[in-house]
Amino acid sequence: MRAILGSEGRPAVAGVTAGVVLLAGLAAAGPGAKAQQTGRPQELQQFVAVEAPVVVLRNVKVIDGTGAPAKENQTIVIRGERIASVEPSAGARVPEDARVLDLAGHTVIPGLVGLHNHSYYTAAGGRAAQLSFSGPRLYLAAGVTTIRTTGARHPYEELNLKREIDAGRVIGPTMFTTGPYLTGQRGSLTMTRLNGPEDARRVVRYWAEEGVSWFKAYTEISRAELAAAIEEAHKHGVKVTAHLCSVTYSEAVDLGIDNLEHGLFANSEYYPDKRPDECPPGFLREYENLDIQSEPVQRTIRRMVERGVAMTSTLVVYEISVRDRPPIDERVFEVLAPEIARDVRAVAEQRRKDGLSPAILKKAMEFEYAFAKAGGLLAAGVDPTGYGAAPPGLGDQRNFELLLEAGFTPVEVVQIMSANGAKVLGISDSVGTVEAGKIADLVVIQGDPEREGHIRNVRIVFRRGVGWDSQKLIESVKGIVGIR
Ligand SMILES: [Zn+2]
Repeated sequence: MRAILGSEGRPAVAGVTAGVVLLAGLAAAGPGAKAQQTGRPQELQQFVAVEAPVVVLRNVKVIDGTGAPAKENQTIVIRGERIASVEPSAGARVPEDARVLDLAGHTVIPGLVGLHNHSYYTAAGGRAAQLSFSGPRLYLAAGVTTIRTTGARHPYEELNLKREIDAGRVIGPTMFTTGPYLTGQRGSLTMTRLNGPEDARRVVRYWAEEGVSWFKAYTEISRAELAAAIEEAHKHGVKVTAHLCSVTYSEAVDLGIDNLEHGLFANSEYYPDKRPDECPPGFLREYENLDIQSEPVQRTIRRMVERGVAMTSTLVVYEISVRDRPPIDERVFEVLAPEIARDVRAVAEQRRKDGLSPAILKKAMEFEYAFAKAGGLLAAGVDPTGYGAAPPGLGDQRNFELLLEAGFTPVEVVQIMSANGAKVLGISDSVGTVEAGKIADLVVIQGDPEREGHIRNVRIVFRRGVGWDSQKLIESVKGIVGIR
């Protein structure tokens, strides 16, 4: 059996024999293909790699996201939006009318669930842009089939974008939207600067009624405001996460928060002079010699585990500012608008010389590893902010490599990046693993992530049973990421 896709990522030569489609790129145009999402405009059809009532992925390795060991030579049957079966290829029943892709040499993992995946992007030179066109395409192309935006600059644009994607009019992942950031009076210009607990309730109520499903509190919020925001959000069935600083992890856990972002990087609890409701600037620099096994750190972890508070790993957005790290993935500069790419590259080169101490990144990895091993629910996301070297999707793929570096096995990393995210979002009965009955959100990767240590060679990404051509999606945003 030969692989359906050439090594350079372009579809190989066509060949259709006895119902076996050997060319993913043309599958959508073949007989029997019809748009399952009726709202899809004709110009988006070119990005569909495969779409049929029954699709079969033959001879793949499967890392299913449950934490179970990988299985070689599997056959996955997709019927409509759902996975119908996953079984060994030898003896697997292949439905008569199925469109069959022979994917020997490929690995299938669950669609990634990105938990810190903004719809906006920031970059060097004070740039900021809402990426409602290129962002969703990049996420999907990279294998991210569900995102939680985790802090919105333009909540209405997010809500509208989500509705467009749901209707099939825009290509992108399933979205969980967020309200505007909730911070204190000293917070950023782009955020809601709360003026007390009543203000927090009013803002939360308004956006909950507008339809957001999460809120994100930010560094300058007070304990009283955070408490009010959490209480009001929960009344409306909405959840709260935070990038903390003025409030400590333990305080937020006691207030009933649902999720905490960035792990150690936003955990000010161990700063020697931490004062209530104040964000100590530069506290991270004190953590170079922090003992992760020490009682104060372990106590926080135990508290989070006991209360079921999840943590989101966003290693990549910090790695880009740490010195002595490997160079940024060249694909990042290829997708960025040229002027932005030039400035991002300059900052990246500078940070490799004078950035944050590598010891702090190592501590952050240790903290996340210890949290997960203690039974904590660790998920991941990209956070495409800072000076811009971790853009949507490509940054998520880098997270895979960084979580391996943190000590997790490839099977564990897949679980963190898919099933665990689905658990945090409360959708794990239908999303997050490759199992019969689940929604067919799947990533087809050329090669073997267990052996190669990365998930960069994504070829087809299935969302709700429709297979999208990863390379074509990336081509379609080259040179405009950072602008729109
Ligand atoms: Zn963020």
